[in-house]
Amino acid sequence: MSSSLFSMEGKSVVKLQMMAHEKRGDINKVYDVVIIGSGPAGLTAAIYASRAGLSTLVITGYSWGGQLMTTTKVDNYPGFPEGVDGPDLMVRLRQQAARFGVEFVEADATELDLKNRPFKIFVGHEVYRGKTIIIATGAKYRELGLESEKRLLGKGVSYCAVCDGYFFKDMDVAVVGGGDTAVTDAIYLANIARKVYLIHRRDKLKADKILQEKLSKLENVELVLNSLVIDILGQDKVEGIKIRRKDCGEELIKVDGVFIAIGHIPSTDLVEGKLELTKHGYIKTYGNTMTSVEGVFAAGDVMDPGYQQMVTAAAFGAMAALDAEEYLRKRGLV
Ligand SMILES: Cc1cc2nc3c(=O)[nH]c(=O)nc-3n(C[C@H](O)[C@H](O)[C@H](O)COP(=O)(O)OP(=O)(O)OC[C@H]3O[C@@H](n4cnc5c(N)ncnc54)[C@H](O)[C@@H]3O)c2cc1C
Repeated sequence: MSSSLFSMEGKSVVKLQMMAHEKRGDINKVYDVVIIGSGPAGLTAAIYASRAGLSTLVITGYSWGGQLMTTTKVDNYPGFPEGVDGPDLMVRLRQQAARFGVEFVEADATELDLKNRPFKIFVGHEVYRGKTIIIATGAKYRELGLESEKRLLGKGVSYCAVCDGYFFKDMDVAVVGGGDTAVTDAIYLANIARKVYLIHRRDKLKADKILQEKLSKLENVELVLNSLVIDILGQDKVEGIKIRRKDCGEELIKVDGVFIAIGHIPSTDLVEGKLELTKHGYIKTYGNTMTSVEGVFAAGDVMDPGYQQMVTAAAFGAMAALDAEEYLRKRGLV
């Protein structure tokens, strides 16, 4: 497998050509496990399933590798004392899965038939079949939609306080949003940064009252309400934000980092109407990774409203593969 890094809209993207030894999926086979998605959850599930002796297919998605392909440095994944590039880490995970004989289809799954067994997974006109399925289609962060937000992603703009907060030790940062995530992020960052501005467009926060009480006790957090972020300033790194205050015009705030916490959207288009979802739109799981359809499991950000970290997505991937294996063995399907 070879990979090359190039930059697209300020993001690092790895273009990966499959090497001869990486096997392609086969429409004539019935796989023990078909995994949809190739982020940390999907690829970890693939490593566990294949090492358990299960025939395993990964439908990678067109944007293989998931969210970490858009980040430069992952500093909190265990085992990398100097940190590791997100795309490099994903290439390593994929190579590890390929070593155990995992097969790949490099496209999006477009439709599922979960009514009949084996299950059918459609990729355009091609149909793949699996005795079990692991859905690991991940999530996306809601963006502000500013050109500067894209350009400065990884250069001071972040969607994940737990991932990147430490890079802003004793610096000034802004958190954008007013819900539970934004307030939790502001509280988390207040322990690391010198000053935290919490910018919210409405006149009051939406977050849980207990969180708001905690926030109000923090001396280095300043609440900036009725304010819209209209630009992020800086060429190669964030230098500030421009806000538009309701009734008071525009204002600049000098910050070194901007954490955008306005929503996390699970990628569930494929399973809507087929699997039960929670009221927040995540795949509902029972026990660990079992979904509302027997034999279909879910792992990672698509079913996890809480942690949304690489290490937890990988852990859910491992659990889903072990749950799928137990399901198959108990029914004598392998
Ligand atoms: C910029 C950024 C930086 C981050 N930094 C860190 C960090 O430093 N440390 C950390 O722990 N976490 C970090 N995270 C969070 C971490 O990346 C996620 O928690 C993790 O990637 C979730 O893994 P996942 O496998 O569940 O989903 P994803 O990584 O979202 O992967 C889902 C995959 O499914 C594919 N897919 C979707 N639909 C289909 C379909 N229909 N058919 C086939 N495939 C499909 C997608 O193309 C994608 O490849 C960061 C996130 C972002 C956005």
